[in-house]
Amino acid sequence: MDPLQTTESSRTGVLTVAAPSSKPIALRVTRRAERELRGGFPWVFEAAITDQSRAGSAGDLAIVFDRKGRFLAVGLYDPHASIRVRVLQHSDPASIGAAWYAGRLRQAVERRASLWKRPARTTGYRLVHGENDGLPGLVVDWYEGTAVVKVYSAAWVPHLPDVLGALLDVQGPERVVLRFGRVVGNHPDDLCGLSDGQVVVGPPLVGPVLFWENGLHFEADLILGHKTGFYFDQRENRARVETVAGGMRVLNVFAYTGGFSVYAARGGAQRVVSVDISAPALEAAKRNVARNRGTAGTAPTDHDVVVGDAFEVLHQMGRAGRQFDMVIVDPPAFARRRSQVDRALAAYARLTRLSLAVLRSDGILVQASCSAPVTADSFFGVVNGAAERAGRTLAELARTGHAVDHPVTFRDGAYLKCLFATAP
Ligand code: SAH
Repeated sequence: MDPLQTTESSRTGVLTVAAPSSKPIALRVTRRAERELRGGFPWVFEAAITDQSRAGSAGDLAIVFDRKGRFLAVGLYDPHASIRVRVLQHSDPASIGAAWYAGRLRQAVERRASLWKRPARTTGYRLVHGENDGLPGLVVDWYEGTAVVKVYSAAWVPHLPDVLGALLDVQGPERVVLRFGRVVGNHPDDLCGLSDGQVVVGPPLVGPVLFWENGLHFEADLILGHKTGFYFDQRENRARVETVAGGMRVLNVFAYTGGFSVYAARGGAQRVVSVDISAPALEAAKRNVARNRGTAGTAPTDHDVVVGDAFEVLHQMGRAGRQFDMVIVDPPAFARRRSQVDRALAAYARLTRLSLAVLRSDGILVQASCSAPVTADSFFGVVNGAAERAGRTLAELARTGHAVDHPVTFRDGAYLKCLFATAP
């Protein structure tokens, strides 16, 4: 048997989808791409392919050979994505199937166990962080017994029976929910009838699930919610907010389901205002704050929500003379491609200026960016520059990134940047 084929016998019967072609595609790539692959880079772009043995379908295995015909990498082929191949294994050939996936999942679990002391009463966290865990385009988040498997390329679809079988072996979820990244639905033929939000293992989901994070109780909508339902990447930044929130009036802009608001409340904030454009997200934020009210050691925090465009709401609050002791600004990704970086930076600068207008003297600004193509240097530079121009040169308290269950192991992996600073 060809060692690079997915083995039919290893398929679990959890899901029925067409198996990937048994014949891998052979590829050659530019010298530069060869070099990157030797360095462990997880992607082969469409533009880097110089030679291809045949046309491929989503999920076919593709093997990249160097110019001497030696094996360089094997990965998943996606004919509709500019990231044409997501590399599963570099240097040495491997038989890609349930056993191989189980090995990678086990590594991800063990790595977290050794690098990360999961905080007390934390039952929601990231198990697999895509490229950074050697499974490019695949995320697995854990919500107290329910796993959400999110795929960012349709190339994963034919491999899902193997992946789910491995996940059941390694982690034993009671339920698995399947989610698709934004562009995956663009080619419905590649989806084998599967749909976004489908429960593929275990009992149906009725409403949101409940889970714990640092002893706080949250709900998350795993079917309609952003990402897989919750932003686990901000866990440590939320905890930092808690430590300074005592007695403060806190404005949480782009609040989603109130992650930062709940931590600020437990930290003893006097009042929290959560702003978001999504009314359902703010309804969940209200429930999340209410559900944790008893856990706060101090007087209960007043919590208000404002549904609206953040730029507009900040502008109005500034004109009305509203003042806060801490402003948290955690917008969605403004840039997904390099061509969008300049516009994104201008939007970050505008948010800094609008936030400072409602931040009292010596108040705390917490501003984040999750735009992958925006570098940390340019983001922190733009926020500091906007503050200076507003006559409020920041004193930085910390520059942070994502929580440690989101390891960074490749060039483009460090997407989250967050600045904590006081403004005179
Ligand atoms: N801070 C949150 C995550 C924020 S995600 C947490 O820790 O959980 C970004 C949020 O911005 C989403 O909830 C989205 O609904 C909201 N959003 C997007 N555009 C917006 C806009 N123009 N004004 C206000 N909110 C917006």
